[in-house]
Amino acid sequence: MQVTFEEFINLVKAYNPDEVEIITKAYRFAEECHKGQHRESGEPYIIHPLAVAWILANMHADRDTVCAGLLHDVVEDCDVTLEQISREFNPKIAELVDGVTNLTQVDFKSKTERDYANKNKIILGISKDARIVVIKLADRLHNLLTLQYKSQEKRIKKAAETMQFYAPLARYIGAEVLRRKLEDLSFKFLNPEGYVETSKIISDYSNQTQLSTNQMMIDIHRLLEDEKVPHALKLRIKSVYSVYQRIKDGGKIENLHDFLAIKLLVESKKECYNALGLVHSLYPPMPKTFKDYISQPKPNMYSSIHTTVFGPELVAVQMQIRTHEMEKINLQGLTAYWDLFQGKAVDVMQEILRDKYHFIQSVKELSRIMKNSQDFVQGFEQNVIGDKVAIYDGEHQVFVSAGSTAIDYAYSRGQEIGDRLDSVFVNGQQVDVSTVFEQGDRVHLILSEYPHGPLPGWEHISTTVQAQVSIRRGMRKKYAIHQ
Ligand code: MN
Repeated sequence: MQVTFEEFINLVKAYNPDEVEIITKAYRFAEECHKGQHRESGEPYIIHPLAVAWILANMHADRDTVCAGLLHDVVEDCDVTLEQISREFNPKIAELVDGVTNLTQVDFKSKTERDYANKNKIILGISKDARIVVIKLADRLHNLLTLQYKSQEKRIKKAAETMQFYAPLARYIGAEVLRRKLEDLSFKFLNPEGYVETSKIISDYSNQTQLSTNQMMIDIHRLLEDEKVPHALKLRIKSVYSVYQRIKDGGKIENLHDFLAIKLLVESKKECYNALGLVHSLYPPMPKTFKDYISQPKPNMYSSIHTTVFGPELVAVQMQIRTHEMEKINLQGLTAYWDLFQGKAVDVMQEILRDKYHFIQSVKELSRIMKNSQDFVQGFEQNVIGDKVAIYDGEHQVFVSAGSTAIDYAYSRGQEIGDRLDSVFVNGQQVDVSTVFEQGDRVHLILSEYPHGPLPGWEHISTTVQAQVSIRRGMRKKYAIHQ
């Protein structure tokens, strides 16, 4: 990715003409600071912050975010202080730069300890300003795009860290386009043969099914036009890494019910359901593939109707029916709000992070239980941004970490609930408290009247860091009382 300053500033002009001056100033400032520094590729260092700012400007990021993108490495790599940035620009930009600046004190015992401390800092920063995560993701994306210049050891480390932390973060904030890029780039470095093989399987099968999917798009378009439903159609192909994960254990691409997907975009929620009926009138649906993420969005606010149908030649194609606005949020997540809310975007992002994602509460809760950076970051990776399954507790849909048992779920609701767990009913049957919950399970915990504390062995049955820490704490308390 090679971007010139002219291309960048033209992009800024197109959506934010009033801020060209300060953004140009930030560019000149960064250029001056990084003078004489080079990337591993041998190019002047400034190409990196410029590329990061370019990625941000493509999301129509606000002025302060774009400036922070340009300035994101000056504190770490040059002799610039945050006070200077605050004075030259504004305190908000200095705060954003601070949020993405790595800790460089020398008193860490190991690199691992420093890495955890840095992630800890990022997570706490996001609680205060969601834009920090976006700058961090743009930074990581450009670093991955230029990873071929790093040593093999560094490549593997960066790619693995991206899979573990940054890609799940991107998914968490709903930034799917970013997540796909981060995952596929990392996958390419972690497993080059797997990447090449999977890409070939994808292109072969896409070619093989092209006539069917084209025909479907024509037929659906005609029917909706006859019914006077304004719409747009797009073909979406699953990412290399997602396909790899699904076929690596011997699965066949033609058996994936969602490898090929046609997005059907309409204007309103009501038209989504109307369009669903029309699609089913054309093609028979595959049983058990219907999902209504409009009435029950995913935790990252992904909204759509899914139904897999059999098209011409009986090719399985997933129909993803949604409105244009849902599509924008599904692809861009929080970063869509720069366009949708303009000047109010920052407040809306923070509000959503707090009230819809419960991010701030989860982080607070975690930092209360997890006293060191490593536990905290691992707990965060698992409980906050890790894979989730939806279960039902009474009337309520609850998202729990994938792999959770009744013990994990009980402790995720609080120390006291965990310490009172007696038994559990799943889908009306009493099962062992070590049973792993599955998507859609109806769960009912039976609690004792008084806390009896964790039972011996629970620590090893539980799968989440949060439960394990709570169990250890419960054990210490129980042991102290019984002494
Ligand atoms: Mn950087």
